[in-house]
Amino acid sequence: MSTPTIPDTCPRCDTHEVSLLTESPVPGRWSMYLCGVCFYSWRSTEPGYATDPATYPAAFKIDPVDIPKMPVVPSIPARRA
Ligand SMILES: [Zn+2]
Repeated sequence: MSTPTIPDTCPRCDTHEVSLLTESPVPGRWSMYLCGVCFYSWRSTEPGYATDPATYPAAFKIDPVDIPKMPVVPSIPARRA
């Protein structure tokens, strides 16, 4: 089995901190990748709209600058006294 080629760019945030997350139990069938910036993960066998930065839906793109300002959902309730 050959080593999978890790994509250069995250489809969702367009950064380049992509790593190999896991591989298929049957060697060579698929690989999963993880973005270290926005934590998007995708499988190599998914269609282009989920794997290709050029065709990933613009409405779901994330600018890394906005990540620290994003709300925690669901919110974490205050501790009971
Ligand atoms: Zn990303």
